[in-house]
Amino acid sequence: MSTIINTPERQTLEALLRQRQQALTQQLDAHQEGQSRVEHAHELLSQDGDDAPQRDADREVDMARSDRVNQELALISRALQRLYQHDFGTCIDCGDAIAAERLAIEPWAERCVRCQSAHEGQVAHHRL
Ligand SMILES: [Zn+2]
Repeated sequence: MSTIINTPERQTLEALLRQRQQALTQQLDAHQEGQSRVEHAHELLSQDGDDAPQRDADREVDMARSDRVNQELALISRALQRLYQHDFGTCIDCGDAIAAERLAIEPWAERCVRCQSAHEGQVAHHRL
């Protein structure tokens, strides 16, 4: 067992995860109330202040965004479930310890940097 995370660290990570979970849930709620569309339009306008955003493209971006939020929420709830198990903080692919610096930034990380980029490469490849 290559656990590098001790209990106070887990508690810190749990607080981070719950904060993030709450922020994302609020984003989704705002999205459902149509508030994020307005925010999003403002964002687009400030990014390239020429044309008004096309409705279809706008909606696609919106949907992609809430997909990402939902995916991240799923990762976070998995992380919260695994947090106090002995294998938390180890890569689900190779079993190596995930760098503490990585967990501090992304407490929901399930893979070490190497396996994560391999995984993302595979996912991107499968989409083609
Ligand atoms: Zn790995």
